[in-house]
Amino acid sequence: MLEKLKQIEKEALASLQAVGDQESLQQWKVKYLGRSSPLMKTFDALKELSKEERPVIGKYANQIKQALESTYEGISDRLRQSDLATTLQAEGLDVTLQGRPAPRGRLHPTTLTLREIYRAFAEMGFQVYRSREVETDEYNFELLNMPTHHPARDMWDTFHTTTPGVLLRTHTSPGQIHVMRQYCPEPIRVILPGMCYRYEQVSARKETQFNQVEGLAVGQDITMGDLKGTLTDFARRMFGPEVRTRFRASHFPFTEPSAEMDVECFICGGIGCAVCAGSGWLEILGCGMVHPVVLRNGGYDPHKYMGYAFGLGPERITMLRHHIQDIRYFWTNDMRFLEQF
Ligand SMILES: [Zn+2]
Repeated sequence: MLEKLKQIEKEALASLQAVGDQESLQQWKVKYLGRSSPLMKTFDALKELSKEERPVIGKYANQIKQALESTYEGISDRLRQSDLATTLQAEGLDVTLQGRPAPRGRLHPTTLTLREIYRAFAEMGFQVYRSREVETDEYNFELLNMPTHHPARDMWDTFHTTTPGVLLRTHTSPGQIHVMRQYCPEPIRVILPGMCYRYEQVSARKETQFNQVEGLAVGQDITMGDLKGTLTDFARRMFGPEVRTRFRASHFPFTEPSAEMDVECFICGGIGCAVCAGSGWLEILGCGMVHPVVLRNGGYDPHKYMGYAFGLGPERITMLRHHIQDIRYFWTNDMRFLEQF
């Protein structure tokens, strides 16, 4: 019996040393330490032995089992290590390689321009007044001195809702009436930024939705001089302290007199280039003294109060500054465009 055990041990150990991979190691374990291996059968056979033999053989069989198990563990460890080394070498893990950067969001170019506009006017004491985007015909046109059938309405192609008299605002100007009715008879100095909608044929220059920043000042001693001074100061804060401005007579139904303001072309410095069409000037906003009818509709007595208003387009300013040729880029969500800001 003892001889047989020695033989088993010798054979198992020799066989174990020859094992070269995990698969054959597992096969070895089944063959020499499994339930039906010769060694385990020896334990089953112990009960058939004599009282004297049993402890001797039992003890020896246990020693062999422990020796085989510890050698098995050692070889298993060694194989795992060498497998890992092989994998590392074969797959060429380069720990010096840079990680993938997490994509970071950033502000939309229009938002950046809007914030600059807010900053410039905030420094001059203007507050931001938010007004609704869905408006009534009354606020969008009538109270702004454009009664039904007024030819000036043709300037704004309008999205009407299925509810009669309710539309998407075509400009931020209805906010003028809201803010006047809320604060009358207090003096007012606000900007009214927000989205406007027009039923336009979409092209490189026209979109169906865009931002506008309206401005309104109402008080007892407000003159055209205040309008020109404030807007010239705004242009300097926005485009640089040296920038020149000019006002050209224009017409809007809700202001009288009305003007458009140009700034000296900041691309060519006034010499003339493709962006300013050779004129040296860029038109950036429309403005004027608030029409007496509009003041009265807001609750102010036009004999006692005066005011000025203006409106500018943040997308247009962004386009001029960054040489953007097509307004449709603002809404196409093309990362190649957005990443540049
Ligand atoms: Zn120019």
